[in-house]
Amino acid sequence: MGYNKKSYALGSRRSIIREIFEYSKKRGAEIGYDKVFDFSLGNPSVPAPPEVNEAIKSLLCEKSSVELHGYTSAQGDATVRKTVADKIGREFGVDISPNLIYMTCGAAASLSISLKAVVEENAGDEVIVFAPFFTEYRVFVENAGACLVISDPDEKTLEIDVCDLEKKISKKTKAVIVNSPNNPSGVVYSEATVKALTSLLKKKSEEYGEPIYLIADEPYRELVYSGVTVPYLMNYYDNTIVCYSYSKSLSLPGERIGYIAVSPKMKEAEKIYLSVCGAGRSLGYVCAPSLFQQLIARCIDSTTDVNVYKENRDVLYNNLTAYGYDCVKPDGAFYLFVKSPEPDAYAFFERAKAHEILVVPCDDFGIKGYVRIAYCTDKKRVEGALPAFKTLAQEYGILNE
Ligand code: PLP
Repeated sequence: MGYNKKSYALGSRRSIIREIFEYSKKRGAEIGYDKVFDFSLGNPSVPAPPEVNEAIKSLLCEKSSVELHGYTSAQGDATVRKTVADKIGREFGVDISPNLIYMTCGAAASLSISLKAVVEENAGDEVIVFAPFFTEYRVFVENAGACLVISDPDEKTLEIDVCDLEKKISKKTKAVIVNSPNNPSGVVYSEATVKALTSLLKKKSEEYGEPIYLIADEPYRELVYSGVTVPYLMNYYDNTIVCYSYSKSLSLPGERIGYIAVSPKMKEAEKIYLSVCGAGRSLGYVCAPSLFQQLIARCIDSTTDVNVYKENRDVLYNNLTAYGYDCVKPDGAFYLFVKSPEPDAYAFFERAKAHEILVVPCDDFGIKGYVRIAYCTDKKRVEGALPAFKTLAQEYGILNE
C-alpha cells in the first residue's frame, strides 16, 4: 500500500461520537431539529464570556498585523507565558517560571506534545489511563510510540482504584494520565484519591529508580459545581506536567488555545521543558495561534458561566435517578455517565435512538455497559427529553413509581 496503514485506519474509521452527530443532522432534517434530543457532542453551549469578544475587538483595533497574526516564539509569547505563570502562582501557590510554560493549540496538542516529550518511542514504554477515559488518549499514546494500559475504576464511585493501579504499574510505566473533572463521568477525583495515587507513584518511581510522570489533563478544571475543588496535582507530586486548555473554560474549542506547564519541582524540569519544545517542533505545531495567545493575556481571570451546566446537571440527574437509572452524581464537566439498563450499551443506545434520544455508548471509554449524556445543550432540550427517558425506563421495567 502506498500510504500509512495506521493513519488510514484512523482517518477512515470515524469516531462513534461523530457518527451519532452526523445521524442527528440527518434525522433533524427529516423530522425537525427540535424533535431530536442529541446529547452526543461535548461542544460548549454557553457562549464565550462577553469580555472575551470585547477583548478580541480591542486587540484588532490596538495591535499591528504582525502582533496579531505573525509567528510568536515557538513556546509562546513571553508576556503571555508570564501572565499564565503568574496566574498559576496566584491560584495554586506554585512559583513557576514563564520558562516552564509552553503555549499550545488546546489540550489535544498539550497531550500529544507531553507524551512525545516523555515517551521513548518503540522502547516498550507504557502509559496508564484510568477508565472511563477520553477515547483520544489511545490515539495520542500510540502515536507517541507507547502502549496504552487501562486501570479499572472503583465501579461504585468511578474514582481511581489505586489497588488496581498497583497491579498495572510496572518498570515499563512512563506516565499516567489523570483527567479530573472527568470526561465521560463528570467525577472530580477527591483529595484522598489524589494522595493515595501520588504516594503510590512516588513509591514506584523510587523502587524503579526512574520517574513516572503524571500528566494532568485539565480542560474542565473550572467547570465544577457546588463549591467542589479540584486538587492541583503539582502540589501533590513533583513529576507533574499540566495540560490545560481554554476550550471549555472560555468556550473557545474551535480557536485551539491552551498550554503545558512543567512543574518547577521536577528534578529535570528544564530538560523536560526542552523536550516539550522539541516534541512541539517535531509535531509541526510551530506556535499557538497568536491572536488567541494575546486574548488569554487579557482574559486570564475569566471563566464561562457554569450555572447553565449546573441547572442541566440537576434536572437530568434528579429526574433520571428518580426514573430508576443508575449514575454517579457528577461534580464537574458537562457529562452524565449512565449505567445501561441492559448489559449491552449499544443495544440501549439503539432503543434510546428509537425514541429520538442520542447518547454515546461508552465501550471505547474503557468500561462496558455505560452511555454518556453530554448536557452542554440548552435547558429546553434537556427538559424535552425527559418524557422519552421515562418511557424508556418503563420499557426496561426500572421505573420507580
Ligand atoms: N481531554 C479531554 C478529557 C477532553 O474531553 C477534550 C475535549 O473534549 C480534550 C482533552 C481536548 O480538548 P481541546 O479541545 O482543548 O483540544
